[in-house]
Amino acid sequence: PPRVLSGVQPSGALHLGNYLGALVKFTRLQHEIDTFIFVADLHAITVWQDPAALAQQTREIAAAYIASGLDPDKATIFPQSAVREHAELSWIFNCVARLGWLDRMTQFKEKSGKHKERSSVGLYTYPVLQAADILIYKATHVPVGEDQKQHLELTRDIAQKFNHDFNAPGFFPLPDPLIQGPGARVMSLRDGSAKMSKSDPSDYSRINLTDTADDIAAKVKKARTDPEPLPETIEELATRAEADNLVGIFAALAGKTKAEVLADYAGKGFGTFKPALAELAVESLAPVGERMRGLLGDPAVLDAILAKGAEKAREAAAPTLAEVKKLVGFWGA
Ligand code: ATP
Ligand code: MG
Repeated sequence: PPRVLSGVQPSGALHLGNYLGALVKFTRLQHEIDTFIFVADLHAITVWQDPAALAQQTREIAAAYIASGLDPDKATIFPQSAVREHAELSWIFNCVARLGWLDRMTQFKEKSGKHKERSSVGLYTYPVLQAADILIYKATHVPVGEDQKQHLELTRDIAQKFNHDFNAPGFFPLPDPLIQGPGARVMSLRDGSAKMSKSDPSDYSRINLTDTADDIAAKVKKARTDPEPLPETIEELATRAEADNLVGIFAALAGKTKAEVLADYAGKGFGTFKPALAELAVESLAPVGERMRGLLGDPAVLDAILAKGAEKAREAAAPTLAEVKKLVGFWGA
């Protein structure tokens, strides 16, 4: 049966990229498919997280899910670390995945930067844990941003090799990434060649879900652009990274294509386009931020949702792990 799995790391404030690339899609899918959405706290600690803040950051992600429309009665919402099957399957997958596969992962290269030898081992094997997150539920559809495409391919490779090595054809499905639309790759407001990220040190690089209307207006106004008016065609737009990004954000927020946005704004300068974009962003995000603040005002309710979600997730994960242990040949399995 089809099943959706995805998650977001509690590694900082959620931004427009997370919202358009991930959260909005979860909300749409929950009505059609059995949906599991977790808070990726095991992933978050691949880089240092303050232990005094991590649990609250986890609640913040859960609040953002619900504020953007995820219904805890429809979707299963849970903290990753509360379902130990993820970590257990991840170890087995570490023994299935090949070093050469992981060596090719571009996100590790970007995140480890110049100090590869000082990165955690977890940052390196992160995509293996991600494969376990998905396959422990035998998920078939994974809504993510464009930056996760390569990791999803690795998940498919791991599933395929596991099925082959343990002579279990079709045991794990080969999950399909759901990466579509102009919101699948939102770029930094400061640099059209870098994706918008929670971990970017510049707050001006991103629009956060909890930003005030004034913050949003100031950030859009300061967003880097070229001096030319907007072009007629998307081909021309594609040669101008920053302009392309702003038009893409507008399109995603308005539920239009970039061509439709250009039909309205071609020939107009950023002096006209930016205020319109800021207004649209405020209109879309202000209610989400407001609902988030409301939910965070009552942490007991969020904690109850997470606890119930964890229980449901464990029920779904445990049988898969039991079957895996049998296939691998562990004693007592
Ligand atoms: P970090 O910098 O800590 O990795 P992040 O902003 O990349 O944070 P993640 O928690 O790693 O956020 O990713 C959560 C989801 O948001 C994933 O599906 C990811 O593909 C998506 N996503 C992240 N950044 C963007 C972006 N700029 N545009 C579209 N989708 C994005
Ligand atoms: Mg990321």
